Amino acid sequence: MKLAVLPGDGIGKEIVAQAVKVLEVLKREGAKIEMEYGNIGGAGYDAEGDPLPETTLNLSKAADAVLLGAVGGPQYDKLDRPLRPERGLLRIRKELNLFANLRPALLYPELAGASSLKPEVVSGLDIMIVRELTGDVYFGQPRGIEVRNGERVGFNTMIYSESEVRRVAQVAFGIAMKRGKKLCSVEKANVLECSELWRDVVAEVAKDYPEVELSTLYVDNAAMQLVKNPKQFDVIVTGNIFGDILSDQASMLSGSIGMLPSASLDENNKGMYEPIHGSAPDIAGKDIANPLATILSVAMMYRYTFADMATADRIENAVKKVIAQGYRTGDIWTEGGHKVSCSAMGDAVVAAL
Ligand code: NAD
Repeated sequence: MKLAVLPGDGIGKEIVAQAVKVLEVLKREGAKIEMEYGNIGGAGYDAEGDPLPETTLNLSKAADAVLLGAVGGPQYDKLDRPLRPERGLLRIRKELNLFANLRPALLYPELAGASSLKPEVVSGLDIMIVRELTGDVYFGQPRGIEVRNGERVGFNTMIYSESEVRRVAQVAFGIAMKRGKKLCSVEKANVLECSELWRDVVAEVAKDYPEVELSTLYVDNAAMQLVKNPKQFDVIVTGNIFGDILSDQASMLSGSIGMLPSASLDENNKGMYEPIHGSAPDIAGKDIANPLATILSVAMMYRYTFADMATADRIENAVKKVIAQGYRTGDIWTEGGHKVSCSAMGDAVVAAL
C-alpha cells in the first residue's frame, strides 16, 4: 500500500505525525505500507515555489492513497492567487479526479455536551454525507455577470450528466452497503429539472443494490430533518451545492472540528484523506492541536481505499477508547477530563491500539 503523506502547513505537521504513529504500529505488525512525503500548500511554495509541486503531484498520482494534514497560513495570504496554498488543494482534488467527497458527522456520546443541539438529539449520531465534488452549478457553463436590458444580471448553470450522477450514486450505495444499508438522496426535484434527472438516475442505480433501502428528500426538508432528528440518517447522497451546505450543517451537530475526518474518492476508490479543519495557525507549533480527525482519516483510508474493515474498526475503536478514558485535547476538554497534548493524544491512541 503506497501512501503519499502531505503534512502541509500550520498544525498539519503535528497532527499528521500522530497519524503516522498509528501507521507505524500497523507496519511493525507486518502491514506492507510504504510512506513517502511530499510538500503541499505553503510548504510547497516555500520549498519548490508552487503550492502543488510537480513532484508532489506525481507522488500522489502514483500512490494508492494520499494522507493530507492542512494547508494555509497568514504569511501566504498576499501571494498571487495561483500561488496560494488553497489553490494547491483545489488542484490536487481536480488532478486526481476526486469526485466523491465523504464527510461523516459522528458524535461520541462523551462529547455530546459540545454540540449546539440537545445531547439526547445528537448522542450517538453517525451520518455519512456523500457530496458530489466536481460538477453542478459550481462548474456549469455558461456562467457570468453581464448587462441585459440596462441592468447587470448574474447567472450560473446547474447541470449534471447521467454518468456524473451514476458514479457518485454508485459510491454512495457502496458505502451504504458497508454501513447501515440506508441511503437518502437529497435534491429539489419538485422545482429543478437537474434534480429530476438526479432522482431518476439514483433510482436506476438502486436496482443494483436491492439490500439498500433508498429514500429521497427535498433539500429544504433535509435541512430541517438534520436539525430535528439527525439520527434518522445513515448515508446521504447529494449534489455539489446542496452537499456543501448540508455537510457543514451536519458536521457542526457534533460540536468539534478537531474530531471529523473526510475522504475524497475517485472511481477506483483511490482517495485523499484529510481532517475537515484547516491549518489552525493560532495554535500551530504548540503541540496542543487535536490529532483525532487525522487519525480517523487513516481509519477511513482503510475502510474505503484498502477495503480493510477490521483495521478501520480497530483504529476507530482505539479513538473511542481514549475518549472513554477521558483523554482530551484543549478543543474538547471539559471539567473532569484529562487534558493532554497533541503528541500525548497520539501516544494514547497507539496504546489503545
Ligand atoms: P481552521 O480550521 O484552521 O481553524 C478554526 C478554529 O478551529 C481555530 O481556532 C483553530 O485553532 C481551531 N482548530 C482547527 N483544527 C483544530 C484541531 N485539530 N485541534 C484544535 N483546534 C483546532 O480554520 P481557519 O482559522 O478559518 O483557517 C486557517 C487556515 O487554514 C487558512 O489559511 C485557511 O485557508 C486554511 N484552511 C485549510 C483547509 C484545508 O487544508 N483543508 C480547510 C479550512 C481552512
